[in-house]
Amino acid sequence: MNETHNPQLTSWIPSANIPGNDFPIQNLPFGVFRKKVTGLHHIGVAIGDQVVDITAARNEGLFNGLAEEAAEACSGDTLNRLLSLGRAHWSELRKRLSVLLSDTEERGKVERCLVPMTAVEMQLPVAVGDYTDFYASIYHATNVGSMFRPDNPLLPNYKYVPIGYHGRASSIVVSGTPVQRPSGQTKSDDAPAPVFGSTKQLDYELEVGFFIGPGNEMSKPIPISEAEHHIFGLCLVNDWSARDIQKWEYQPLGPFLAKNFATTISPWIVTLDALEPFRCPAFARPADDPAPLPYLDSTANVMTGGVNITLEVFLRSRKMREKKSDAFLVSSGNFKEMYWTLAQMLTHHASNGCNLRPGDLLASGTVSGTTKDSRGCLLERTWRGTEPLQLPSGEKRTFLEDGDEVTIRGYCERSNAVRIGFGECRGVIVG
Ligand code: MN
Repeated sequence: MNETHNPQLTSWIPSANIPGNDFPIQNLPFGVFRKKVTGLHHIGVAIGDQVVDITAARNEGLFNGLAEEAAEACSGDTLNRLLSLGRAHWSELRKRLSVLLSDTEERGKVERCLVPMTAVEMQLPVAVGDYTDFYASIYHATNVGSMFRPDNPLLPNYKYVPIGYHGRASSIVVSGTPVQRPSGQTKSDDAPAPVFGSTKQLDYELEVGFFIGPGNEMSKPIPISEAEHHIFGLCLVNDWSARDIQKWEYQPLGPFLAKNFATTISPWIVTLDALEPFRCPAFARPADDPAPLPYLDSTANVMTGGVNITLEVFLRSRKMREKKSDAFLVSSGNFKEMYWTLAQMLTHHASNGCNLRPGDLLASGTVSGTTKDSRGCLLERTWRGTEPLQLPSGEKRTFLEDGDEVTIRGYCERSNAVRIGFGECRGVIVG
């Protein structure tokens, strides 16, 4: 940890110092914003209720050395070039921004680079080349397995292989984008043949995603000791899923059209640097679980491979939104309970020589815990629709209805550190 993590550090931007705000000076997440006035896209860093325009700050002459090189890589309209540079550049830019936003020496110049969040629309932060979704929660895997295979919920490979599938990058959208209810083939158990039509079992999946920084050459695996050098930062992910389509299509090759119609991500990428105070031990495997194979095992991963992130899912029906009711908290879980760590997922992905590239998105899979209220999707939360949710409006939910708004939030909190947040990952279902 370094001076950017100092819990005593405050910003001269008052909104950044309000306790409970997602973007204090200890966070400094990166994103791409569009100025409503000009329509132009810029790369920015969130601070309180403001965004620092990195290119504007560079034009004020506020950077030098590696920080200047990193700021120069922020002159486009995606973060890919910055991601390709690596940790030394990211960290120097972060350190300089931390000084500029706490120390008042250059305040006049920095103020000219600030844009209020109310004057911007957030964009997709990265041009995502490839998207992979894992299945890293053993509780999610066991719950889902027990619904479909009561006698054999967890398949024998689970504790050895970080299970994943290749998703679709083209349908990744930024928070706030409406999600169209998809159509597809479904077949009820008693019907002789499938029908084509709108899904009746639309679901969300609460997930955490991480963006690849420098990639690896094809046929050059990434050892677990170097895995985190290849991770820029984390975002929230909603892997929208149509359960009835999934049930009919998933065998023998896995998810396809049930999951590639939309994936929503939060616009701000919280860097691994910012998450440093919230690292924690990897999932403690029970004594009778096998140890990970050596290529997925390291002391550092065991000691600090986890990340303590509280994750929440909120639901508001159309009726609740019209009445301006508060969103209903559907579930609350923690990312530290994942069976596989970020480093293990990344190392496994590249272990066969598969080349990862800057801007690739790897997602964790549904984050579920041990309790009912920490189950990260409706399939589990309502136990396949057999235990409907009762909303405060009097409505019931098994799966999502048109007009429902799903919002994921995430934040990190511990003693002797300033709380940092991820902002939100939100989408409304349209029929
Ligand atoms: Mn998923």
